[in-house]
Amino acid sequence: MSRPRGSGGARYSTRCAAEKADFASAALPFGKTFRYTHFAPFCGGTMPGSGTDKTKNWIDQPGPVVVLVEPQLGENIGAAARAMANFGLSRLRLVKPRQSWPNDKARMMAAGADRILDGAQLYDTLEAAIADCSFVLATTARAHDQAKPVVGPNEAVRQIAPRIAAGETVAIVFGRERNGLENHEVALADRIVTLPVNPAFASLNLAQAVVIVAYEWFELLTEGKLPFAMPEKSPQAPKQQLLAFFAALERELEKVEFFRPPDKRETMQVNLRNIFSRMQPTQQDIQTLHGVIMSIAEGRKGPARGGVLDGAEAEMLRELLAEHGGGRAPEERGPVRGLARLLRRNPTEAERLLWQALTNDRRFAGRGFKRQTPIGQHICDFVSFPLRLIIELVPAEKSEGAAAPRAARGAWLKERDYRIVEVLATDVESDMATVLDRIGQHLA
Ligand code: SAH
Repeated sequence: MSRPRGSGGARYSTRCAAEKADFASAALPFGKTFRYTHFAPFCGGTMPGSGTDKTKNWIDQPGPVVVLVEPQLGENIGAAARAMANFGLSRLRLVKPRQSWPNDKARMMAAGADRILDGAQLYDTLEAAIADCSFVLATTARAHDQAKPVVGPNEAVRQIAPRIAAGETVAIVFGRERNGLENHEVALADRIVTLPVNPAFASLNLAQAVVIVAYEWFELLTEGKLPFAMPEKSPQAPKQQLLAFFAALERELEKVEFFRPPDKRETMQVNLRNIFSRMQPTQQDIQTLHGVIMSIAEGRKGPARGGVLDGAEAEMLRELLAEHGGGRAPEERGPVRGLARLLRRNPTEAERLLWQALTNDRRFAGRGFKRQTPIGQHICDFVSFPLRLIIELVPAEKSEGAAAPRAARGAWLKERDYRIVEVLATDVESDMATVLDRIGQHLA
């Protein structure tokens, strides 16, 4: 066996001296074991964004040797090394690379697959590069018209796997970018490997040819096992949970007389249940669906976070405050603000509707309207400070006691140049368009 000319890369090496391997095993499809190597973290930097994950085990399973014959571009050598690292191959041999070696462009394209480049061995001839191999495959896009079995990449890796598992050294040879492998080089091989390609455009980039063969190798080695799967965050819903959901769903549908006509009821139920059974729901799925059904059935959720009052109670609270002077607490801002917050969280129906209309109508959007905002000691239903405009919702039935404080407060605000538009809550519910037009007149 002839000696390699030496291995390149010492001055590029980013590996630390303490790098060491420990092995774990798993079953291989062709009867041997599957060995992962765990390397201590690299001391030097790898290329950023290379997808290198140092927390994962490097797959260091015996595989075929990749031989590149007179590669012209360092970039292709680097890209081939990257592809090899992606698919668990580590042994690279170069026969007379045309550019100097080690090579910066190769390093750049390897994107972190430094260990492959560092371990690459250089040879003067293909014969020397395959001298220790018992089985050799020559990859080519061209028919070389030689009496030699031709196989596709999948068949190729199937044929070499048992040999490699038995400890043999097997080489896969790739040719020059410009003119591939010479006839006499193909003659050295036991098999010809060609890819199923468009015959009118058959020649792949060197590194891309390497990646396809490397992929086939790894796919066979790992039986196509993917590195990750959809996370199972919630276990499958047990039948009991599913049945309880069906019962709730059907109970709600009964209420709206969904199952009509009565003779179709059973089929309808079965069909409906099957929709959900088919999707193999998780416990979380069923909880969510349950929540959806119940919230549709029970209508709009109660007041927003922090709210406890329904529409009627919210109105009563406002009346009470109106009678007692808007929660006045002289020289104290805290309670007023607290009340304002409470009112904001407990909108009356009219308030909710008007606010929705104000925020959706282009005339009012961006004019700085706020809800339930303190002005001095007073809390106003809606105010725009930029416009100095206040919109007050007036309840349908005004309480006697609220009239005087309301007037006092109006005077206080007018003194401070606020304009007040009073809007009847009943109008908001019955004729929003007119209400908005009226408010709109005050915008100029
Ligand atoms: N023009 C050259 C192709 C060189 S491509 C020729 O006609 O042969 C560089 C190398 O990539 C090839 O030598 C071969 O090893 C590999 N390759 C490219 N296309 C291939 C294909 N369709 N099937 C198998 N190997 C291929």
